[in-house]
Amino acid sequence: MAQEYDLVILGGGTGGYVAAIRASQLGLKTAIVEKGKLGGTCLHKGCIPSKALLRSAEVYATAKRGEEFGVLTKEVSVDFGKVQERKNKIVEQLHKGVQHLMKQGKIDVYEGYGRILGPSIFSPMPGTISVEMNNGTENEMLIPKNVIIATGSRPRTLPGLEIDGEYVMSSDEALNLETLPNSIIIVGGGVIGIEWASMLSDFGVDVTVIEYADRIIPTEDHEISKEMQRLMKKKGVKLVTGAKVLPETLVKENGVIISAEVKGTVQEFKADKLLVSVGRQANIEGIGLENTDIQVEKGFIVTNEFFQTKESHIYAIGDVIGGLQLAHVASHEGIVAVEHIAGKNPAPIQYHLVSRCIYSNPEVSSVGITEEQAKEKGHKVKVGKFSFRAIGKALVFGESDGFVKIIADQETDDILGVHMIGPHVTDMISEAGLAMVLDAVPWEIAHTIHPHPTLSEAIGEAALAVDGKALHA
Ligand code: FAD
Repeated sequence: MAQEYDLVILGGGTGGYVAAIRASQLGLKTAIVEKGKLGGTCLHKGCIPSKALLRSAEVYATAKRGEEFGVLTKEVSVDFGKVQERKNKIVEQLHKGVQHLMKQGKIDVYEGYGRILGPSIFSPMPGTISVEMNNGTENEMLIPKNVIIATGSRPRTLPGLEIDGEYVMSSDEALNLETLPNSIIIVGGGVIGIEWASMLSDFGVDVTVIEYADRIIPTEDHEISKEMQRLMKKKGVKLVTGAKVLPETLVKENGVIISAEVKGTVQEFKADKLLVSVGRQANIEGIGLENTDIQVEKGFIVTNEFFQTKESHIYAIGDVIGGLQLAHVASHEGIVAVEHIAGKNPAPIQYHLVSRCIYSNPEVSSVGITEEQAKEKGHKVKVGKFSFRAIGKALVFGESDGFVKIIADQETDDILGVHMIGPHVTDMISEAGLAMVLDAVPWEIAHTIHPHPTLSEAIGEAALAVDGKALHA
């Protein structure tokens, strides 16, 4: 049977389901088509489960240091089954929350695989959605005025390092490990690779990271990645940078053996398991793009600033359009797309002001550009840095590694970028983001009185340090 809608969203991940809520708030008759589970990658295979595991690892690592806090524990150990149970419970709770929000917003959810059809008896324009229902009932036909493609992404693999689920894993399989391996090789030292390295190392796994670039987390400010390198090594993580993994050398037998070319020499690495974390690939296949004029470039759907594709009534948001593949970006893109559909004239997203976070232990967060990028753009920069070592609350926490770094333009005083590494910095970056959105200068951050004792004092001190006036330096 055919159903008519103002909006049909293909994919119920963070981008899709948030777009649906906004659409329902704006009075649009809305449906979501989801082949898996509402909440998508972020809720089921990404942000939430990985952070739940990271938290357990952090608790374990802290408990082992109990004596330092005057807390004497008997031998501390990990029950990994319970760790997974806790993670699954959190995910399930949030999944129920999303299902409830769909009901509350009177959003129709079709559980099945959606495809965009070309012009048909239902509509002269491409965009009718045919849904192959998961429960095997007859295909549903949805006739929308507008469509949002929010089909997300999946782990990228390297030829020769195909995922087998036993020895070679992506983050999808790693999240569901039943037991911890003794050792692991992680190919890729970007955000996801470093989160896994940090977590597994805190759980006591012997971790080796093989990274192609000359430094880990290479998109971050140079000093941040250098500090992360130091702190990962301090944890015992082996970091091999400037290394090209040689997939053809992979041997899988009671573990894995693989070689990499490291600065002209070939080195061999052995471990129980191998995790491939080399980026994510957009889900653009099998969704009917060939029935439309939608453009794809370098594997991602091309859109304008309001997320319209070449077919102006079909929008695309989130990981499927590339750029910053982050949950908060996907959902904000969804909101902008829906508001555009509803004629609300939304402001385009200022991508340079989006905060980025790494939830390793210690954490990293940043907004704006790096010092290197600022110099490349021709800015004369002034930099204020403040270490957590001089912050009382960091000492109280027993986590005083890391610093806050603020980069400003010498002439205009504009803040160009804020970068942090240290305890709980992912919860601190929004202050810097707000400052940049409001076009604040370092002086204004410094004169915002930061409560004592808090970790945020490091931001106030770094802002003072931009003009050489930090108080506790
Ligand atoms: P997705 O969440 O991937 O959702 C797409 C949905 O579409 C899926 O549910 C899929 O089943 C469905 N779908 C696809 N094709 C069809 C079809 N034809 N018919 C019906 N349904 C379909 N981001 C952060 O901001 N913070 C983090 O801490 C973070 N941690 C991460 C950790 C890991 C290990 C990973 C892998 C990712 C992490 N991310 C994080 C990234 C984040 O998960 C993604 O950016 C976000 O999920 C993108 O949302 P989306 O809606 O575009 O796509």
